[in-house]
Amino acid sequence: MGNVLVLGAGIMGLSTAWALDAAGHRVTVVEQDERPNPRGSSVDDHRLIRHAYGAATGYMRMVDQAYEAWDALFDAIGERPYAETGVLALGDSGTAPEADWFAASRRALRSDRHAIEDLSPGRLGSLFPWLRADGVSDAFLTPRGGVLMARRIVTALSRWLERRGVHFIQARAAGIDPARAELRLSDGRRIAGDQLVVAAGPWAPRLLSELSGRVVPSRQIIVYLEPPPEQREAWARAPMVLDLSEQGGFYAVPPVAGTGLKIGDHRFSCAGDPDDPREASAEERDTILALALPRLRDGESYRVLEARACYYDVEAQERFVVEPLSDRCVVMSGFSGHGFKFGPVLGRAVASALGDAARMEALPRWAAGDAAQEKDVAA
Ligand SMILES: Cc1cc2nc3c(=O)[nH]c(=O)nc-3n(C[C@H](O)[C@H](O)[C@H](O)COP(=O)(O)OP(=O)(O)OC[C@H]3O[C@@H](n4cnc5c(N)ncnc54)[C@H](O)[C@@H]3O)c2cc1C
Repeated sequence: MGNVLVLGAGIMGLSTAWALDAAGHRVTVVEQDERPNPRGSSVDDHRLIRHAYGAATGYMRMVDQAYEAWDALFDAIGERPYAETGVLALGDSGTAPEADWFAASRRALRSDRHAIEDLSPGRLGSLFPWLRADGVSDAFLTPRGGVLMARRIVTALSRWLERRGVHFIQARAAGIDPARAELRLSDGRRIAGDQLVVAAGPWAPRLLSELSGRVVPSRQIIVYLEPPPEQREAWARAPMVLDLSEQGGFYAVPPVAGTGLKIGDHRFSCAGDPDDPREASAEERDTILALALPRLRDGESYRVLEARACYYDVEAQERFVVEPLSDRCVVMSGFSGHGFKFGPVLGRAVASALGDAARMEALPRWAAGDAAQEKDVAA
């Protein structure tokens, strides 16, 4: 047991604080902004959880561990901000990368006995009246998968940790000394723990030269839409949508639990600074609409409610960087567009690896999605 300093109160820092607190450590979390931080990657209405991961079987299997960890975290905080919607994957024209993703996902899902239903264009049209199915050449539905209510989770977790006695400091770290497990704050103070966990989201590459060239902040646009009245009921029952079309594709989050219908794209901008203003330009907004609206029946009747930018921290292969920087410091970074679902399972893995050399050695490859590393890392 010892004093652990955690930098960042996004899902990674808070989940690690949760696991460290459960293991009996004294935890201090340093966060530059208010909590929850509306500029953090973790703070938006929703984040998705799904098993379909193409050939990335390590991450597909980590999703099972993620669900177990979410159950434990939800039990702890006493609420369950999650809606199971299922996942609809759509592809067009069978271009090679996309066909590979579908074939690899099917193979992996079936080999691990996850339920999956292939859908013909005719069935798509009857199941999902909001969808323009012409041009869709491949589709499947998995009943498992859904929407994590991200803002509610981060808010509730942060409050719960405070009630547990976790200490929060609102301050900006200007420098990190991994060997001393120390933060230099922007007001000149220095604080140190026995161990330090750096979970600074898209700001991390600025703080750690070790990440430069490996992880870059990426400005991503999301657009909230109001469907036409005749489609609202069907949207309320819709699965999350992953459209992997040749033109770039989009994802759509159905309006669950009082949230709005949201769309975004899969492509990384790998541009911008997380301190930049978050309003989306008309051009940024229209780029997302151009990907999604052609796929939606009566697409021109959807009303744009809001368009804005979020940032995440991209690693080129979308492999997480969870690595020791010294024997007293671990960094959690590179979560790209798919880290939220793994917050609690990664937090547990980091907490149990601190002070355990064998686990620490296995942690980076497992977190990077290496299927060969098995469950013991997250146990
Ligand atoms: C548009 C979008 C869609 C996404 N969709 C999904 C999805 O469907 N499914 C999924 O699983 N994931 C998704 N993600 C990714 C996921 O949200 C992120 O991987 C995850 O939230 C990263 O959490 P984090 O704690 O590392 O970062 P953050 O939430 O950004 O937390 C880092 C915190 O560190 C603080 N900080 C940084 N620097 C300093 C400093 N110097 N001093 C003090 N504090 C500091 C920040 O203020 C911030 O609060 C999406 C992300 C975006 C942006």
